[in-house]
Amino acid sequence: MDAERQTIFALATPPGRSGVAVVRVSGPSVRRVLERMTQGPVPPVRQAAVRALADPETGERLDKALVLRFEAPESFTGEDVLELHLHGGRAVVDGVVSALSGIEGCRAAEAGAFTRRAFDNGKLDLTEVEGLADLIDAQTAAQRRQALRQHRGEFGALIDGWRNRLVRTLAHAEADIDFPDEDLPDGVQTELAVEIGALTREIETRLADGRRGERLREGYRVAIVGAPNAGKSSLFNRLVQRSAAIVSDRPGTTRDVLEASIDIGGYPVTLSDTAGLREARDAIESEGVRRAEAEADSADLVLLVRDASLPEETAMPAERWRAPVIEVLNKGDLAAPSDGGLSVSALTGQGLDALSVRLVQEIAERLAPPENAAITRARHREALEGAAAALGRAAARAPAPELVAEDLRLAVRALGRVTGKTDVEDLLDVIFRDFCIGK
Ligand code: GDP
Repeated sequence: MDAERQTIFALATPPGRSGVAVVRVSGPSVRRVLERMTQGPVPPVRQAAVRALADPETGERLDKALVLRFEAPESFTGEDVLELHLHGGRAVVDGVVSALSGIEGCRAAEAGAFTRRAFDNGKLDLTEVEGLADLIDAQTAAQRRQALRQHRGEFGALIDGWRNRLVRTLAHAEADIDFPDEDLPDGVQTELAVEIGALTREIETRLADGRRGERLREGYRVAIVGAPNAGKSSLFNRLVQRSAAIVSDRPGTTRDVLEASIDIGGYPVTLSDTAGLREARDAIESEGVRRAEAEADSADLVLLVRDASLPEETAMPAERWRAPVIEVLNKGDLAAPSDGGLSVSALTGQGLDALSVRLVQEIAERLAPPENAAITRARHREALEGAAAALGRAAARAPAPELVAEDLRLAVRALGRVTGKTDVEDLLDVIFRDFCIGK
């Protein structure tokens, strides 16, 4: 590691007033910071200690803080780390930050710098870094679970497992090229083909997941559609108010399509209310209808609202949409109970529990994660597709060992990009361990 490396510091909690604010410091000058800003012995590793903090330049006391330190490499960044748990007042934080910037070797951290160091020091692989970002951004329980699994390294371990097998396969292929006359174990060619086939299938199975992980990260898109006056807006408002946490209203969407991010049974849902679908009478309305249709076309699920009090309502076939459709008979308070369909009333709230249950079922079926960690980003998907394609080529080129090896190397690299492990040096180890060529 770079001995010249600077020590970085930053406020780790949100800016503003709070009970406690945490300033994190990482790098070789942690001990110096403690010696300059506090009196008395440096606190023992991983044990909270109360210390008065002072500005080393003026000697002015800034706060009484809880001090916690970690020693390299056993810390988040892999470096010496210090956490200063301050009283969360603006002037306290400003005073401490300004004192830190006056200490030799210390500078304010850039965004993501602590995590960058954790990655550089091998504490986290790229998927674990992404999992951490997702955990911080998680707004619903299902997102949190997925993020935590990825942060704990489940997806990274899956990728590493494939990559290790692939490196071994590549080593065998290379040995076959480099030492054709040596006494290689019997059936190397067959083993190669079998393993390439098995890996291809495993990766392809994982790719055929209906984009669950990505959708869980991004939010499931549910569009409310129906004829004008069916009660779409009323239902939209009901659903938005009912959901435990309204995550956000999205500014900047068109006047005709209103969106809100809500939590339905732990799943993140982007709910949109669209203009009524009917024959438009003027240009503005026709634009609204066009947008409504586009919205429904890109939705993951369509909530088709019908007015139950109008049996003669123009039929709007559910088959019209690409996405699955849940039909809702609204204004149930005005209509006789019907046997088919989900009867609700946006006015009285009747039937909304049943609708929520139905929505959660529908969404859980499509977003529930596979048995182990999911693909959560286009970046993962592209890399796995690249690896599967390279393996497919390798399988087709069996008679030309050099080409097989080249494709395997591309597949190894594609998988390595997912976790950030890109060196192929470990190859030689495998060759020598497995074959003892030349003794
Ligand atoms: P949209 O045009 O489909 O968005 O429909 P709105 O939500 O604006 O509702 C149209 C009219 O129907 C309004 O006057 C609502 O108050 C009324 N409405 C909506 N839902 C219900 C319901 O469940 N029962 C009754 N009786 N009226 C409703």
